[in-house]
Amino acid sequence: MNSTTDKRIALISVHGDPAIEIGKEEAGGQNVYVRQVGEALSQLGWKVDMFSRRVSADQETIVQHNSHCRTIRLTAGPVEFVPRDNGFKYLPEFVEQLLEFQTENSIKYQLVHTNYWLSSWVGLQLKQIQGSKQVHTYHSLGIVKYNAIESIPLVASQRLAVEKEVLETADRIVATSPQEKQHMRSLVSQKGAVDIIPCGTDIRHFGSVKREASRVTLGIDPESKVILYVGRFDPRKGIETLVRAVRESEFYGSKNLKLIIGGGSTPGNSDGRERDRIESIVNELGMSECTIFTGRLSPEILPTYYAAADVCVVPSHYEPFGLVAVEAMASGTPVIASNVGGLQFTVVNENTGLLVPPQDVAAFSNAIDRILSNPEWRTQLGQAGNRRVMSKFSWDGVASQLDSLYTELLQSVKEPALVTLG
Ligand code: UDP
Repeated sequence: MNSTTDKRIALISVHGDPAIEIGKEEAGGQNVYVRQVGEALSQLGWKVDMFSRRVSADQETIVQHNSHCRTIRLTAGPVEFVPRDNGFKYLPEFVEQLLEFQTENSIKYQLVHTNYWLSSWVGLQLKQIQGSKQVHTYHSLGIVKYNAIESIPLVASQRLAVEKEVLETADRIVATSPQEKQHMRSLVSQKGAVDIIPCGTDIRHFGSVKREASRVTLGIDPESKVILYVGRFDPRKGIETLVRAVRESEFYGSKNLKLIIGGGSTPGNSDGRERDRIESIVNELGMSECTIFTGRLSPEILPTYYAAADVCVVPSHYEPFGLVAVEAMASGTPVIASNVGGLQFTVVNENTGLLVPPQDVAAFSNAIDRILSNPEWRTQLGQAGNRRVMSKFSWDGVASQLDSLYTELLQSVKEPALVTLG
């Protein structure tokens, strides 16, 4: 590489700030992905700038993750939380601010990796204005999402058009599972270059806690049967299905059964409303004795919860990848997941857990009973999950695949022709 093809990259994540607390307010897998990719790339010699939209006056403008990796918050639109469906109108200002940042710092990003459709629009502009190479990860495909929900947001047609344009024109699309690629091809467009590079997980962090020790830390009886959910409060996550399935389980009513629901929320916001709704179902079904709402789980405590669980349930209606499933498997805990999207790729049915139809209460209940009633099989499933994550979904492996992709793209950036004076 030479000076024009320096190992420098901008990761753009307009609404998924990589430096904030994960687990609430629309902050989930995308934030984790961007931060982990950024930090891992910096270890491989990349200079990484991660751009996000500033949402509060208390936030620092620049957060330094290490000497070669930082989050830069641009002011575009109101300095407050804006739901992602209302964010499109602030994107031109975001582009302007990014260009200004480049000028002020004498940087030009030859390569940008955009995340989610809002950022893909920013990438499309940078490509047009200054010829940046664009890599894009969807994190969620509008066309799949809108098929699964009842109320379609106003911004839908805009989103679908941008998602098609970026698929057809980006230098490379990164699909995080074969299922996601197949959705792109069958529902969006046949054109465009797509590579499959999964999301990763920190295999040193998850799997670092032993089951017995985790139960001591959390004050859970060694004999208890523990069912765990981790994730945002969003109707698409299917928490209601899980609650109803636990109510139908043959273990329900034994004093040892525990349902732990981990995830943060803010009262009055959409996640707070979903948490209230789930809590009222728990109360109606008379399950408040055996159900624990932990609130947001910090990265430090998460491995302890995964290790303490007999089974982790991911009941999403739709999931492009689903980091929680791989985190649980890395921790040696079997996963029961909806048979959708990336979960079909990460969870191997009857080998690392069980896959069941989404929203099917009876099927989830039956799967829970099969695993809880056979502790030996539970351990085998957990061990197989751990092996699968080690071999396929470590961040180091994922980062090295991205490193090769970026290097290939930067090498194709043409050197400006030398002018020879006669
Ligand atoms: N998460 C967390 N604390 C919580 C709840 C969730 O750190 O209280 C993290 C979780 O560990 C995972 C991410 O949020 O890394 C959720 O990612 P996933 O891909 O499962 O779902 P998404 O949020 O992208 O829909």
